[in-house]
Amino acid sequence: MLWNEKGNALIIDPGCYFTQEQETLFNFIKDKGLKPIQLINTHCHLDHVFGNKWVADTYNLELFIHPIEEKLLKVAPASGLLYGLPFDNYKGPVHFINQGDFIKLDEDQLQILFTPGHSPGHICFYCKAQNFLIGGDVLFLESIGRTDLPGGNHQRLLQSIKEQLFVLPDQTIVYPGHGPQTTIGYEKKYNQFLQGII
Ligand SMILES: [Zn+2]
Ligand SMILES: [Zn+2]
Repeated sequence: MLWNEKGNALIIDPGCYFTQEQETLFNFIKDKGLKPIQLINTHCHLDHVFGNKWVADTYNLELFIHPIEEKLLKVAPASGLLYGLPFDNYKGPVHFINQGDFIKLDEDQLQILFTPGHSPGHICFYCKAQNFLIGGDVLFLESIGRTDLPGGNHQRLLQSIKEQLFVLPDQTIVYPGHGPQTTIGYEKKYNQFLQGII
């Protein structure tokens, strides 16, 4: 979640699957007095979309994704069954966001970066003014996103990191979809998967 001093909030990739996880998110929002105003997915793998329907129903929101990701969203319940994780998919209106668009949280804005490779329509959210990136599953602390799932492409992932992420300032903080935060400069220096691409 991202929120501002007014308490307006964005919810990105709600992974909550179990009721207890929904309650954790619900209580967090309630305790902080936040008002969720937009629901967004970096991409539509299961662990990023499980909570879409619950969030949309609970906070009366509609979903924003990159258009290429819609296919994955539609097959998510079927792939959930393959993993033994049945769930209710979000079925409301889907709004598309593209490279160069901005997500607005009052006067703050996040720029959409198109970063395919881990999934075909993956996007990241870059806040230039506050120097951080919501990175999804592209770049992790000393690691990178897997590319063995349907629609994955290793070369494309490397290209996304090189052309979209490694052009950001070194001190940019990266908040990945999994694991601890890192920075662009740290990953340029220490990420073993990316030594050849700079
Ligand atoms: Zn993923
Ligand atoms: Zn993930």
